Amino acid sequence: MTAKLFRNSTAVAVSVMVLSIALFLGMLYQHFSDQLMTELETETWLVAQGVELNGMDYLDGLNTENRVTWVDRDGTVLYDSQADAATMENHGDREEIQQALTDQSGTARRYSSTLAQQTLYAARRLSDGTVIRVASAQQTVVTLLLSMVQPILIILALALLLSAVLASRMAKRIIRPIVNLDLEHPEDCDTYEELTPLLFRIKHQNDTIQQQVRQLRQKQQEFAALTENMSEGFLLLDRQGHVLSYNSGALRQLGAQTPKEEVNALVLNRSENFRQAVDEVLSGHRSQQMLHLNGRYCQLLANPVMQGEEQMGAVMVLLDVTEQEQREDLRREFTANVSHELKTPLTSISGIAEIMQSGMVKAEDVQGFASDIYQEAQRLIALVEDIIRLSQLDEGAVNVEREDVDLYQLALEVVKRLESAAQKQDVTIKTMGRSVQVHGVRRVLDEMIYNLCDNAIKYNRRGGTVAVTVGPVEGGVEVSVEDNGIGIPAEDQDRVFERFYRVDKSHSKDISGTGLGLSIVKHGTAFHDGQIHLESTPGKGTTVTLLLPQTGVNA
Ligand code: ADP
Repeated sequence: MTAKLFRNSTAVAVSVMVLSIALFLGMLYQHFSDQLMTELETETWLVAQGVELNGMDYLDGLNTENRVTWVDRDGTVLYDSQADAATMENHGDREEIQQALTDQSGTARRYSSTLAQQTLYAARRLSDGTVIRVASAQQTVVTLLLSMVQPILIILALALLLSAVLASRMAKRIIRPIVNLDLEHPEDCDTYEELTPLLFRIKHQNDTIQQQVRQLRQKQQEFAALTENMSEGFLLLDRQGHVLSYNSGALRQLGAQTPKEEVNALVLNRSENFRQAVDEVLSGHRSQQMLHLNGRYCQLLANPVMQGEEQMGAVMVLLDVTEQEQREDLRREFTANVSHELKTPLTSISGIAEIMQSGMVKAEDVQGFASDIYQEAQRLIALVEDIIRLSQLDEGAVNVEREDVDLYQLALEVVKRLESAAQKQDVTIKTMGRSVQVHGVRRVLDEMIYNLCDNAIKYNRRGGTVAVTVGPVEGGVEVSVEDNGIGIPAEDQDRVFERFYRVDKSHSKDISGTGLGLSIVKHGTAFHDGQIHLESTPGKGTTVTLLLPQTGVNA
């Protein structure tokens, strides 16, 4: 803009100067011409006076640079100072001659074929009717003007230089306030009045933009807060599959790092199922896939985003369904185990009944077979009861009301019921501690202590001991069942609480059990908001400790 201003003002200055000089020269030319004509008229008058007095003699003795011509009344040239009068054509038709003949004097400017240049003429009629004419070449004026060209050019050059310097300074001065405008705060700018509406407009637009940016930022923060706190993963893709937006849940579930730049969704996860979901959704179809990553299950729901008929992109939601899947696995495993465990005694019963039905059993063996059927039936009943208890605990369907239960008294009762079983195994069982109250379901607590004591007797050795200790501890009530029996190998200690899990099945085949006892204890403890802890050394013994929240009043 500075350059343009400079160029324009310099051009204006140069044009004005050139025009002024042209006008000036024109005026000078006119002035000189007029002056020359006046001088010519004066000279003509003088020559006319001389000829009036002395005739041709005067002309012969005349010494002048100008051309003098004497023309007769009929136009015949009588004398010419620069040409042979006899050879000259009739001059009666010349403008100045005709004027002089009619008006006494006349003037004219035109091209002279005799002098071969632009010429000024002044003519005067004498008393005898003849005409004296003096002519001067216009060149005299041009010569005069030419003599002025050099100083004019010098002045012109100086003026040009001066106007260039001034134009440059002026352009900078005009531009400076515009360059220094603070467009962030246009209202504080002290500049040209003409710019005020523009600055006002800029301020208005600044305010609008700032307000929109604030609103946008707020919306972005709200959106980020919302998506970041979602447990579900969220991915937004454009129609080429580039990730437009995501939350940390999505990256976590896909096992991806935070992308440093815009990436294609396929970079986030290389699994076949994910690729298939992306391909399907980008081709405009809904897709649902299950991803299995780092031991976790993730359900992927992908939906195309449409605008009218055109697909704009896709949205993907990732749900962590590990727990559902694990529950489903457990349920499948449980069903398979239950079927198997139920089938075993039923097969025995069916086999024995078949033999008896065939009539091949001797009368003295019938009792033995009946006893076997009874044992298997008891096993079935125990199994079914355990399954029912477990499923009740599982579903929180224990609908007996809670009450304050003295755990010490309960332990004494359980131990009493198991004494004969202990004696059969040659195991000594004793109860220690003092009364402590727990707010819970008596039947469930009974089963828990019973199962622990039953195990401690069953998985013991002859002459072994079982110690049941009940008492208050920091943070609640503790029940521990300690035996010095066969113990549990370290690798099985975590698994014994699983349903139907039995350590070394071939070994414990001889010991009756459903593999559900400790599972019932675990669920019963959770039902009472307690904790369970197992410590065991193979060959030395096992201690299972329950910590239950203490409620009610201790005796
Ligand atoms: P079960 O009906 O087989 O006793 P449990 O769930 O009560 O089922 O126990 C699971 C397994 O844990 C048992 O089969 C046994 O191998 C092991 N176990 C439980 N308690 C003890 C213990 N006190 N000493 C040694 N092994 C034990």
